[in-house]
Amino acid sequence: MDIRARVDRLVERMQEQPQYPTQGAVLFVDLERRESRRAYLPVEVVKTFLGGRGGNMFLLYNLLDAGLDPLDPGVPLIFGAGILTANMPSATRGNVTSRSPESRAILDSNAGDYFPAFLKRHGYDHLVLYGRNSQWTLLKIDRDQVDFVDATRYRGMNNIAFTAAIECDFACTEQKDMAMARISSAGENRVLCSGIMAGQKSIWARGGGGAKMGSLNLKAILLLGKPPEFDLTADYKRQNREIGKKILSASVVQNALKKVGTPFLYKPSRVLGAMGTKNNQETTWHDSLDADNFDPYRPNMSGCYKCPVCCRANNDMLPGGKGGWGASALTGIAGNASYDKDQSTLEHHKQRTYNGINNDGVFDQYDKGEGPEYIIVGKFGPNIGIKEPEQVLRLNNIINDLALDASSCGSAIAWAMELYQRGIIDQEDTGGLELTWGNYPVIEQLLFMTAKREGFGDTIACSSRAVEQGRYPAEALDYCMASKGLFQSDPHDARILKAFALGLAVATRGMDHLRNRATLEINARINDDAAFKTALYGGVVAPQPTSYEGKEYAVRRCENTFAAGDAVGMCRFNTKLFNSPSTPDLELFAGQIRGLTGMTLSGDDLDEIGRNIIGLERMLNFSFGLRAQDDTLPRRWFEEPITVGPFKGEKVDRERFEELKQRFYRLTGLNSEGLPAPDWHAKLSRVATGFCVQVKLPQPLPGAPEGVVIIDQPVSDLGQLRAELQRRLPEAAEQLQDRSWNIAINGNMVLSDEDQAPVPDGSEVTLLPIIAGG
Ligand code: SF4
Repeated sequence: MDIRARVDRLVERMQEQPQYPTQGAVLFVDLERRESRRAYLPVEVVKTFLGGRGGNMFLLYNLLDAGLDPLDPGVPLIFGAGILTANMPSATRGNVTSRSPESRAILDSNAGDYFPAFLKRHGYDHLVLYGRNSQWTLLKIDRDQVDFVDATRYRGMNNIAFTAAIECDFACTEQKDMAMARISSAGENRVLCSGIMAGQKSIWARGGGGAKMGSLNLKAILLLGKPPEFDLTADYKRQNREIGKKILSASVVQNALKKVGTPFLYKPSRVLGAMGTKNNQETTWHDSLDADNFDPYRPNMSGCYKCPVCCRANNDMLPGGKGGWGASALTGIAGNASYDKDQSTLEHHKQRTYNGINNDGVFDQYDKGEGPEYIIVGKFGPNIGIKEPEQVLRLNNIINDLALDASSCGSAIAWAMELYQRGIIDQEDTGGLELTWGNYPVIEQLLFMTAKREGFGDTIACSSRAVEQGRYPAEALDYCMASKGLFQSDPHDARILKAFALGLAVATRGMDHLRNRATLEINARINDDAAFKTALYGGVVAPQPTSYEGKEYAVRRCENTFAAGDAVGMCRFNTKLFNSPSTPDLELFAGQIRGLTGMTLSGDDLDEIGRNIIGLERMLNFSFGLRAQDDTLPRRWFEEPITVGPFKGEKVDRERFEELKQRFYRLTGLNSEGLPAPDWHAKLSRVATGFCVQVKLPQPLPGAPEGVVIIDQPVSDLGQLRAELQRRLPEAAEQLQDRSWNIAINGNMVLSDEDQAPVPDGSEVTLLPIIAGG
């Protein structure tokens, strides 16, 4: 069934009118035929998956043909705003969802800035794009008006020049009367570590969304015009003010996020010896990248749509540029470096000395910009051997212009550098580039080559798939810091913190901390308060970071909370459990959902919705062939102990890790292959596709450890059911082809070769071995 037939089938199950106040439409856009249509998600779907990431997953589950290549135009690219996006402080976010061309697991990426809020205010909760434009196109949306604009003249432009051209050509200003999702030359060239920019710096980074959008010949989605705000009640606004106050009263927000942004995390990580250095061969690095070293170049902060925090640091290294915002903000705050007295009081008093990247008084557009976040400090600092803050700032500004995913691109470069260090590749492979640690000029050059897929840049553009695509020999995989085909998102080395390690392994989009990180595991005060910690996570979690005991509770609670937060549209930084135990929680989100939509949901309901979203993501990944063995970590972390710091000698024990993972599966309601167990799977299917047939096998089979399979894609007869079983369980193909098994549909025996026998929705199908004799 092709994508158009799938859209037709889905729209039949949707509504023609909004189901509650503020509900936006799902806009389906056929880019090839230049047609669009609208429908609304049914209330039952919203109550099960909410909006944003949850609604996106529902749409993807119905529209995806798992047999297609992710870059096939029949694989949809879906944008979604959270159910509270634009209507609650810090609820600025939205997700982009598809199948990842980089990892081949789900693609799901979250970003803020202004696009998700504008999407909601233009009247749309989700945007489903499919079909390939015959030429480069800009999709222009102004409320009900959808236009396809020739974008040929913008081809090859990167973020800075392209944004300026659009603001000039359409007489608009980003963040005022325009918001835009766009790709750079990297996305046009289908670079697998390229993302979709939501602003000057904000990016849907993970999973290769840039390549996916480029494969549709879609340069940008332009939301033009300043649409009206929603009419909120006085009660709702009062509660919003309370939420704003709660966010701003959290000490991490006051002292760190508002003043210097996320780079404050660098120092505790380095002191702990939990830093990913030189592709995780080492675990600490120079104090020259501690956050206060960026003070002289930080003129102010930026923020997403109406966010009271404004955590996004700007940078300006140009002559006459200002700095000093947040200077000394961290002075005297020991934070998580507190156990090392010398380090906790260390200050740098760094001066503004930058005189152009070659120290020759020559400056350009990359000497000013927005950022960096901690991820760039780590991935383009210790991970590749850079120790100068000015070099990190400049690489940050280049990455933002080229729309590269700093996590994947930085990891791909670090991987290449280790291979070069070990002699697995040499200058013949790199086209003469000397890939030594910290070689700044080569790294800068390589970023531009990557965006153009030029020379060795074409290898970096393959991201984690470089071995599969014949760029490196198989032994290179031993040094690839990825799981499920996605490089690690954050710069931490998780050999010490077992909850971090579990989270990275089981995250549904690949090796990523933003899906479930139990960040408070490094908070000594919480670790010392057993009763508080148990209440926080809903189970007893060992206080020692290195322990395996109870860590499944911490990851489970975080995963539910963060998935529900994404579906609400709330920023992770201001969601309880990520940075603080006292930022807004699911109960507060539920209250605002009630106020805005009239739907009666509790905090516990939202927790369950978070679990539902994860369940659906795991069902998608299962259909791509991912199993329990794919929920794992890079070899290095199991085999090589850490050599420095207070946790010297620590690594991840394979056996204990596998036991922890299975406990996590049971707590979540997953079977031993990481798929929702039959009862839960059946429940999710009923809402997701409206179809559910339970097949009982004569025995457990590979991929079906309980001997039960839930068929959730509509089939009409036994022949189709057999084909669907084969598709779902390719590892059991031989057993499933055994035509000697008898079959009963709802207790009525049918002959095994009766492929036309109808299989109505809700049936129970039993496969029985023929009893010999008689
Ligand atoms: S806290 Fe920062 S990233 Fe989050 S919404 Fe506010 S400005 Fe954006």
